[in-house]
Amino acid sequence: MSAGRSRYDQAAKTQRITKFLVAARESAIDLNLKRFVFLRVLVSSWLTLPFCALVAGPTPAQTQERADILISGGTVVTMDSSRRIIDKGMVAIRGDRIIAVGPASELAGRFQAAQEISAANQIVLPGLVNTHNHAPMVLFRGIADDMALMDWLEKFIFPAEARNVSPEFVQAGTDLACLEMIRSGTTTYADMYYFEDKVAETTNQAGVRGVLGQTILGFPSPDSRNPEEALKYTERFIQRWRGSSLIVPAVAPHAPYTNSPETLRACKGLADKYGVPMIIHVSETRDEVRQIKAKYKTTSTQWLEKLGVLGPNVIFNHGVWLTEEDLGIIRRRGLGVTHNPESNMKLASGSAPVLRMLALGIPVGLGTDGAASNNDLDMFEAMSTAARLQKLVSGNPAALPAEKVVELATLGGARVLGLHKEIGSLETGKKADLITISTEPAHAVPMYNVYSHLVYA
Ligand SMILES: [Zn+2]
Repeated sequence: MSAGRSRYDQAAKTQRITKFLVAARESAIDLNLKRFVFLRVLVSSWLTLPFCALVAGPTPAQTQERADILISGGTVVTMDSSRRIIDKGMVAIRGDRIIAVGPASELAGRFQAAQEISAANQIVLPGLVNTHNHAPMVLFRGIADDMALMDWLEKFIFPAEARNVSPEFVQAGTDLACLEMIRSGTTTYADMYYFEDKVAETTNQAGVRGVLGQTILGFPSPDSRNPEEALKYTERFIQRWRGSSLIVPAVAPHAPYTNSPETLRACKGLADKYGVPMIIHVSETRDEVRQIKAKYKTTSTQWLEKLGVLGPNVIFNHGVWLTEEDLGIIRRRGLGVTHNPESNMKLASGSAPVLRMLALGIPVGLGTDGAASNNDLDMFEAMSTAARLQKLVSGNPAALPAEKVVELATLGGARVLGLHKEIGSLETGKKADLITISTEPAHAVPMYNVYSHLVYA
């Protein structure tokens, strides 16, 4: 464990460095700009919401409707039901909602806005939805790579968390994670970690939307001595955040192999009591499949079904080793599944049956997983990897085409999180969670197909 110990010390150092980095937010933004110079996120809820709160309502002309922001001239990829792509389009926003989407030539005279943003030579896209993250783990980025999940978790991550994770650590990590997500086009993410109340405070402050799950484990964790304490913390956390405009609190039992049947039932009971999601890692590795089989003589999904804890408010992370029978249960119970191709590949966990899930009509979203197993939170990389992985494992280059991948990263993810009526596409009445991406860099020229650029270029 001596090698491990020096790594924990390194984590403490990283923590101090990152605290400094987060405090010096301007220089952090500069650093990120260098990396994401190709991507210009002009508008996300992060920018829109505080801005709109400050806008004094202009006096509208007689024939014009009032808007707060008009974004015009870009290629608007709506992801609506007809998958409309509007060349030289316009999105009109009032407050935090979209009030019109269409060709700029049709809408330009209809609105008078406090601010107009030119999106010329840019793609306007719904904000990306990262369905699986452990945001504060950005501070463990690179602490232990190139090993299998169980070794990685048990020898490095769980001990490093026990030693380092505090409310301050979680706050600094979430701050850095939100910065990274905003700079790479993510406007909504799902999380599971400790001191989730701090994750929620920091995420809310950053203006990022979050479905945030408090982790529950069957053994002592950084914020609770036992699952009973964790459940009490979770209930207080839910009571504080339910009804928030940006934060959806959730219950997050880590996995079927790290929690007792009683705890899993209590978690589902709590989620149902408050009408919030329950997020859980399921069938991530062969090791998990073996452990569950040895203990319960069945699969993780069938074990959870037997416990009566599955339903439409449950989100499965990974599902790499789901069987055909498991998939039948998932479909019947109306669950959503998050697919995390980079994490699954890096830990050599396997390739999830994404094509089969989609064929069965199971909602699938894309995620990065925590930065310690990725090692970043970039959803553009997740899209590119998801497409290429399914083609490779199926031997079919037509598998998971670019348009479908963009759907998984936007509307599909929103559906998994139960937010598809509010976000995931650019349509009148929905939240104005959107991003713009420059088409000017060399690697984006010429542009024959916008989905192709977003996923492959
Ligand atoms: Zn995870």
